[in-house]
Amino acid sequence: MKILVAVKRVVDYNVKVRVKPDESDVDIGNVKMSMNPFDEIAVEEAVRLKEAGKATEVVVVSLGVKQCEETLRTALAMGADRAIHVETDEKLEPLAVAKLLKAVAETEQPQLLLLGKQAIDDDANQTAQMLAALMQFAQGTFASKIELKADEVLVTREIDGGQEQLALKLPVVISTDLRLNEPRYIKLPNIMQAKKKPLEKKTVAELGVDISPRLVQLKVTEPAERAAGIRVGNVAELVDRLHHEAKVI
Ligand code: AMP
Repeated sequence: MKILVAVKRVVDYNVKVRVKPDESDVDIGNVKMSMNPFDEIAVEEAVRLKEAGKATEVVVVSLGVKQCEETLRTALAMGADRAIHVETDEKLEPLAVAKLLKAVAETEQPQLLLLGKQAIDDDANQTAQMLAALMQFAQGTFASKIELKADEVLVTREIDGGQEQLALKLPVVISTDLRLNEPRYIKLPNIMQAKKKPLEKKTVAELGVDISPRLVQLKVTEPAERAAGIRVGNVAELVDRLHHEAKVI
């Protein structure tokens, strides 16, 4: 079984992003970039499936600027076998990403497509669902457990207030949630080995996909500042303030 994993290069989760002065977007100039954390979980899961003898090949794919190569090399160092980079400087909306991934999947013919549940930059949470619809594959989103059987896959999903178990017929699209696994620490020899693994380049034109935007981002703003808290003298004062000032009781 071949697994295709989509990895996105995003602002590192430790960075506090700032909005540009003209409020047109967030400022990512000179900011540390890393692999989207949910995609790291997806790569880890794919590599574990291969190590367990349940998958034969793990192919990672990233769409975007030249530096996505670094993200792909990280995935290769984690244990993926080869990488595909669809290079473009255009901003990609989830539908464009899903169409490009579909075009790659049509050549690669994976049985399992693993994506993160959401990219932590735009927080869209759309790509896996759109890809499953375009491919007409079953989908298991927010997966916290994946068990591969002969011709189906059991997925445990994180849902509000509990968990749901699904049996999906292969081929499938699965999106990863936080509890699926804890990605491994990459060792230096693996980084060196990853440099020799194949990284294939493709263009949007080659894949024949229309990536023209359908959305217009009107404005990006900082969250409202929280007002400072106050210390109350006793319970009676607290109740009085909640009643008369906050008007919540
Ligand atoms: P989103 O729907 O934008 O929240 O992204 C969900 C998932 O789609 C991510 O976790 C990635 O697995 C995949 N994805 C989104 N954008 C890209 C991209 N530019 N390159 C590769 N994978 C992507």
